[in-house]
Amino acid sequence: MFDCVPPTRSGRNGQVFMWTGPVNLRNARHAEDAAPLDESCHCPACASYSRAYLHHLVNAGEILGAMLLTEPNLTFYQSLMYEMREAIAVGRFRRFTNDFSTRYSA
Ligand SMILES: [Zn+2]
Repeated sequence: MFDCVPPTRSGRNGQVFMWTGPVNLRNARHAEDAAPLDESCHCPACASYSRAYLHHLVNAGEILGAMLLTEPNLTFYQSLMYEMREAIAVGRFRRFTNDFSTRYSA
C-alpha cells in the first residue's frame, strides 16, 4: 500500500486521498467548484488550481491532470506516514488510528 503505485495510479484516475476520505475529481459535482482541492494543503495542485479545473483536466484526458493529482496524493501519503511516526514515538498510535478512521470515513 505504501509504495509508489497508489498515489500515482489513483491520481491518473482522478482519485485524490484526503484526510476526510478519497475524492473522485471525475465526479460532476466538481465541474463548477471554484474552491481549491484542499485549502490546508500546499502542494501545487491545491495551491494553484480549482476543483473545476482539475475536474476538466481529468475528464478531458489531459496528462497535466494526472501529473497534478499525483501531487496531493504524494503529499497525503507523506503526511500520513509522518503523523504515524509521531504517534508511535509518543505511544499514541491506537488513538491516532481511531481518530484517522473517524475522519477518513466521515
Ligand atoms: Zn494538495
